Amino acid sequence: MIEYNENYDKLNKEYLFVEVSHRIAEYRRHNGCKIISLGIGDVSLPLPQVAVQALKDASSEMGEKNTFRGYCPERGYDFLLDAVVDFYKRELNVGIKPQNVFISDGAKNDASGLFDIFGDVKVLIPNPSYPVYKDAATIAGKEIVFLPQTKENAFIPHPDGLPEKPFLIFLCSPDNPTGVPIPENVLKEWVKFANKSGSVIVFDAAYERFIKSGYPRSVFCIEGAETCAVELCSLSKSAGFTGMRCSYLVCGEKMNRFGDLWLRRQTTKFNGTPYVIQRAAQSVLSEQGVAQCSKLIDYYHKNASILISALKQSGADFYGGEHSPYIWLGCPDGMTSFEFFDVLLDKAHVAVTPGIGFGSGGEGYVRLSALGDCEMLSEAAERIKNVFI
Ligand SMILES: *Cc1c(COP(=O)(O)O)cnc(C)c1O
Repeated sequence: MIEYNENYDKLNKEYLFVEVSHRIAEYRRHNGCKIISLGIGDVSLPLPQVAVQALKDASSEMGEKNTFRGYCPERGYDFLLDAVVDFYKRELNVGIKPQNVFISDGAKNDASGLFDIFGDVKVLIPNPSYPVYKDAATIAGKEIVFLPQTKENAFIPHPDGLPEKPFLIFLCSPDNPTGVPIPENVLKEWVKFANKSGSVIVFDAAYERFIKSGYPRSVFCIEGAETCAVELCSLSKSAGFTGMRCSYLVCGEKMNRFGDLWLRRQTTKFNGTPYVIQRAAQSVLSEQGVAQCSKLIDYYHKNASILISALKQSGADFYGGEHSPYIWLGCPDGMTSFEFFDVLLDKAHVAVTPGIGFGSGGEGYVRLSALGDCEMLSEAAERIKNVFI
């Protein structure tokens, strides 16, 4: 008999979101009521106009002999690499070079693909965290060391007490699921630790646009990151690209070995993001595009503030929501996250995401997403408030 990769057997039996949607569907079937979902982290607003126009223009080009394009260059089209470099300079005040940028079709793909280029290294993963880090590390057969992200450390992990050994360190800021951003002084500690220990930081900046002010939006805002960090960025949440698929990885300027191997890996396993999508990505990274995206982000921020105001009135224990579309809500009365999920479904007809799905450290919490429709969300906020009162 052929042997399959047994690491798959080590994954949780069912992917969190699958289990949650089963329960919601089941509830709907039995009770036939309208359920508002504050669950899955997908966006709800349509693409910015600049992107729609860019898609139309690029599609027309694809239909003409002179402007048709086939396979794209290995790391992405120059126009998009330059747009990323300009975006960093203009919006983040960070200087990067096109040769350190790699265009891809999603930060999920990049986060999970990274394990290919590392040898026998321990992986540090916050607990709770975006499930992809843990699952992809498990499939790759890596040893995982969990970094507790708890109320005690205000959901911000520090490197204190770690042995000075090389780790592959995953950090996400603002974090999914807790909604908490990493402060500059803590990110400095991590960069210092990584350089001292020969570690590599994978900084997931998928939600950087949600930072209002006061927190670093890029790991490269920190001195020393150029020798120890790579950054995952995605247009999914910032420009409504979840169904379009475009992301970019930026590697530290002095991480040549990383850059070489990552390019090798990408050229072996990936043939590039479609031309029309790269044109749309270029458009949303322009000054005009960023302004249009800011309107989307403002909408989600307003949603989060509606939830926050309801939770404050109900005296709930919660985190995040300020620099993030996510709110991390403590379960009342010592309930587990799945128990509270059921209570909210039953009493408020609101679906949330049980914290346990993000790791054992998520027990006792649920995640609320503000990425939905404002009217529905306002209704959900009222209903949740009534559950607490
Ligand atoms: C949504 C999300 C991403 C983006 O994934 P894409 O594959 O680019 O859609 C990356 N990291 C985190 C933590 C996310 O929540």
